[in-house]
Amino acid sequence: MPRLVLFDLDGTLIDRQAALSDAVTALCRAHAFNTPIEQWLRAALIDRANLSDFTRLCTDFKLTEPAEQLWQEYVDLIAGAITCRPEVLEGLRQLRTAAWTIGIITNGASDIQRAKLAAADITDLVVGIAASGDVEIRKPARELFELAASRCGRSLAHGGWMIGDNPAGDIGGGQQAGLHTIWIRGRPWPGGLPAADHVVDDVTDAITILLNETE
Ligand SMILES: [Mg+2]
Repeated sequence: MPRLVLFDLDGTLIDRQAALSDAVTALCRAHAFNTPIEQWLRAALIDRANLSDFTRLCTDFKLTEPAEQLWQEYVDLIAGAITCRPEVLEGLRQLRTAAWTIGIITNGASDIQRAKLAAADITDLVVGIAASGDVEIRKPARELFELAASRCGRSLAHGGWMIGDNPAGDIGGGQQAGLHTIWIRGRPWPGGLPAADHVVDDVTDAITILLNETE
């Protein structure tokens, strides 16, 4: 049976922070937003962005633009700023060729996460996508891992791998879901969390480990 690997998206397959910065700059320029608004956006969207952030923005700063319009502009801008490095895309293609089934499991709103996957040319390389916004269940909850596996036509009972940069959400969640784990280091590792099976500096190193898996 093909082996299952689930990838996190932001900070794992794509560099969200760079795209976020570009998107906020462009949005503020387009609407002539002042510095306090720009600073508010950079702080509010640092980990993730939702329509509710823009609703709050419009209320707090008494903006005349509808929140839905600003949200859609932001989604389009960040999708336009997102790229996936060619070596990462090539690695995903090699995994497919080696009969791996690839899924995405991501905490974030359904529309923006899918727009980013499409913009980064990742969508066609994966079988299933589970975004927390689809079901209002977030990593590390096992239910989101079950959903990701089932959208790949698989069951967690058959095991698999989880690759991500968030210790608790990706690695802790993956462990609780019974998956092998590879952590892309960068954030502090929380005390009490069991170590990942592998620790790497870059997602391409994780892909190399998977390609060398023979069990
Ligand atoms: Mg991440």
